[in-house]
Amino acid sequence: MKHALVIVLVLSFVSQLHGQRRRRPPRPEPTPYQRAAIEAAETASQRFAEKFEVTPEALEIHNAGMLWDGHNDLPWAMRTRADSSFKNVDISKPTEFHTDIDRLRKGGLKAQFWSVYVPASTMTQGNAHITTLEQIDLVHKMCETYPDVFELALTADDVDRIVATGKIASLIGVEGGHSIENSLARLRELYDRGARYMTLTHSRNLDWADSCTDEPRVGGLNDFGEEVVREMNKLGMLVDISHVSPECMKKTLAVTKAPVIFSHSSARALCDVTRNVPDDVLKLTAENGGVVMVNFASGFTVPRSMSRFNIRVHGDFRVLVDHIEHIIKVAGIDNVGIGSDFDGIGTLPKGMDDVSYYPYITQELLNRGYDRPQIHKILGDNMMRVLRQTEIVAKQLQEEAK
Ligand SMILES: [Zn+2]
Repeated sequence: MKHALVIVLVLSFVSQLHGQRRRRPPRPEPTPYQRAAIEAAETASQRFAEKFEVTPEALEIHNAGMLWDGHNDLPWAMRTRADSSFKNVDISKPTEFHTDIDRLRKGGLKAQFWSVYVPASTMTQGNAHITTLEQIDLVHKMCETYPDVFELALTADDVDRIVATGKIASLIGVEGGHSIENSLARLRELYDRGARYMTLTHSRNLDWADSCTDEPRVGGLNDFGEEVVREMNKLGMLVDISHVSPECMKKTLAVTKAPVIFSHSSARALCDVTRNVPDDVLKLTAENGGVVMVNFASGFTVPRSMSRFNIRVHGDFRVLVDHIEHIIKVAGIDNVGIGSDFDGIGTLPKGMDDVSYYPYITQELLNRGYDRPQIHKILGDNMMRVLRQTEIVAKQLQEEAK
């Protein structure tokens, strides 16, 4: 009996500790004055977005460029809302998602990293790797179902060739190192099945890497984590450090021989959430030659002064260009890109409702004085440079290992 009591006390203490670690403080309610100010700003954003026009000049620049988005969660939406069947949801017709073929065409998308995300909870269920393979199959199936629209791309040359035929170059990105279940053999298998980036973590820590939304455990990246990065360099798989802790970002940047990507992250100086990239890391990314692809979610882009309250704040799409400009200011014009996170996020800025709205970004960049080559770098040329460099590094490392 006494023992039982001690066990109960210990368990309740441990669960309290765990709860404290996981629980986030509740968002405050705005004062009536703050609520009114936010609502006025939201209405102004809505009005602005409704009358915003894309000029023929902007559209020509946009369509001549290589719009390459770093992150779209359509495969997970298809799995959970269409039972992984393009018969259940035919994306050649209008869908309820952010993404379908007509709107992709309207948005001028040329290349896409389709995310083969699986939740971090699969880590404890023991089915992270197999579920990721199923999601990879789903991207292959999408390319087979709509062969005139999508083609799988495995190299930078593939992307150029596919885009020249008028199709959307479709690349695969793994979102979270839990998908390799602590095995380099599984990492290599994902690469062999077509994956060309892996985000080191998702929302939870791994045995070898810390997430930005969990309590740090291994000081960023441990020895095995470094081995994963080196293996990715050797394979020619892009190392994605969205979702990881700032320490993990820095350690990865110190280890990698190839440029990194942030497939869907924005600037922390403008929106202070841990999912975003701090200025010191932006500077290190510039030295590394990597690219930060701006996430569109309102929660990651609208300044905290507005979004920290317990009400849904959208902001307007110009906030995305604020993030792009900040990254340019701190890192450089060669280190920024687009990583929408469409179909993986809920609240979007007004005027950026779905994949048909990308040209708004080009127009706003033009309005702010950016020229054609600069806009093309942002839309996708930077991403192309990073993939080409990653392929060169991989070849060198493979030669050295012989
Ligand atoms: Zn994500």
